[in-house]
Amino acid sequence: MGGVHIKRGVYITNCKTFAESLMVERDIEWITRAHVTKVEAGKIHYETLDGTFHELEFDFSMLIPPFAGVGLKGYDKAGADITSQMFAPNGLMRVDADYMPRPYLEWSANDWPKTYQTPGYRNIFSVGIAFAPPHLISRPMQSPNGTPINPAPPRTGMPSAAMAKTVAMSLRDMLNGAEKPTHTASMAEMGAACVASTGSHLLRGTAVTMTVFPVVPDFQKYPEYGRDMELTFGEIGLAGHWMKSLLHYTFIYQAKMRPGWSLLPD
Ligand SMILES: Cc1cc2nc3c(=O)[nH]c(=O)nc-3n(C[C@H](O)[C@H](O)[C@H](O)COP(=O)(O)OP(=O)(O)OC[C@H]3O[C@@H](n4cnc5c(N)ncnc54)[C@H](O)[C@@H]3O)c2cc1C
Repeated sequence: MGGVHIKRGVYITNCKTFAESLMVERDIEWITRAHVTKVEAGKIHYETLDGTFHELEFDFSMLIPPFAGVGLKGYDKAGADITSQMFAPNGLMRVDADYMPRPYLEWSANDWPKTYQTPGYRNIFSVGIAFAPPHLISRPMQSPNGTPINPAPPRTGMPSAAMAKTVAMSLRDMLNGAEKPTHTASMAEMGAACVASTGSHLLRGTAVTMTVFPVVPDFQKYPEYGRDMELTFGEIGLAGHWMKSLLHYTFIYQAKMRPGWSLLPD
């Protein structure tokens, strides 16, 4: 997230302090800026940003692999392979973003896609995790061994759903005669909310509730923190846990298409 700052009451807190205090309160240790190189039964091997290699034993682990596409291939009408034109090397699909490689200080919120239409093919779109971001959001980092160690730009549930809805509305209009996409949803112009469980008891449970606006920081519009601090805030408490439970059961209810599911809000 490029060092997100959030408002808590009247204080501006950086996310490092926010996340680390949550861990300390729960007696959890953490390792950041690490790249997993190998996983064996009960043992993870990893490299840290300072270029040193380590091992960690575990009883239970949950690893999220780096974002990558599913390996789709692209061919034009003549049968020529256009995979590298349509997809970034990690398999994510190129859309209407500005993919020109630039140094970190020249990145702009304007580089981010707006319609999610792929260049050259007006009937192909890609949303959510599947589209190729133009660049990282965080300052790029690599270990002295040359291993890139960076967080990927977050394309979480809420922005993914907003992009999908936008593309659906554009497709509807294009099927009714519009020449080009009619709706936009840039991650540099939309906010996101996230609720993360930190304890599941009905009365003593807690969850962290965070909002950021916009998801992709815009230092031209918001020079100090890259985000609107009136709309970028975080809280932890029982109400967040109840909200998370409500979202959970509503989502499952909608997914099972139970009576009245379509009337429930997204
Ligand atoms: C552990 C975890 C926790 C998360 N927690 C949160 C959270 O608290 N809040 C939040 O906002 N976001 C959260 N996210 C992120 C959120 O789940 C994703 O951002 C969101 O699901 C992305 O939506 P998507 O439609 O792009 O991709 P997906 O939801 O991954 O949908 C892609 C779909 O394509 C299908 N597919 C794949 N290959 C093919 C193929 N070849 N042919 C046909 N179909 C295919 C897959 O089966 C899948 O159904 C979390 C993610 C993880 C992994």
